Amino acid sequence: MESIISITIFILGLLIGSFLNVCIYRIPRGESIAYPPSHCTSCGNNIKSYDLIPVISWIFLSGKCRSCGEKISIRYALVELATAILFLLTYFRYGVSIFLLRYLILIPFLLVIAMIDYDTMEVYTTTTWLAIAMGAVLLGVNFYMREQVATYVYGALLGAGIIIIIILLSKLILGTEGMGWGDAEICGLCGLFLGFKLTLIMIFFSFIIGGVIGVYLLRFKKKNGRSEMPFGPSIIMAAFLSILWGDKILNWYLGTLN
Ligand SMILES: [Zn+2]
Repeated sequence: MESIISITIFILGLLIGSFLNVCIYRIPRGESIAYPPSHCTSCGNNIKSYDLIPVISWIFLSGKCRSCGEKISIRYALVELATAILFLLTYFRYGVSIFLLRYLILIPFLLVIAMIDYDTMEVYTTTTWLAIAMGAVLLGVNFYMREQVATYVYGALLGAGIIIIIILLSKLILGTEGMGWGDAEICGLCGLFLGFKLTLIMIFFSFIIGGVIGVYLLRFKKKNGRSEMPFGPSIIMAAFLSILWGDKILNWYLGTLN
């Protein structure tokens, strides 16, 4: 039974990942994510349904469009694989539970937001606020089932609050914003899904990850002139860490203190 659920969740992840690729490509271009059906971005030909199997089609076509032979980035297959692996690890961590549902809703949003932020340095409010609305619905479910609600509200306030404070302080002291309001949305959104404790861990790791990436970019400035890295992907990587191993990391840390 365990393995049937694992395989189902993995395949679900691959399929959702395939849809996320469509979102990541089309949302910044202002295109509809529902219409038209998937087509090659080079020749415009519709992609046949048998060429739309996540990862496998990419390997089978050796990364080329069947019609025009144009290269298809390996990124599409990697996004599909990343979604499936995150889904599977979340299932291993939480089993079939309300938490699994919670994070299976959050993870796809975060992947889309992170990839678009990485590509364009923009955070699209329609995407973040749709995710926040879903988080509010989940709060309603929690309230109805007489489960914890406050921790998620505090998580959201903590996440958004800390970025807003950084923005205001850096404006005051340095005269620049340092971080964007989109980062506050992302961090608040994550807090709304993670709850207070995991949000603390997430914030801690987002600064470590952001710092490491920052130092790397300063040392090895990319040739294409891209020396900036949006902070959103760092928050989102930290959120994934926190969802999967946050409790373990916290226990380990508290253990070393004793
Ligand atoms: Zn083509």
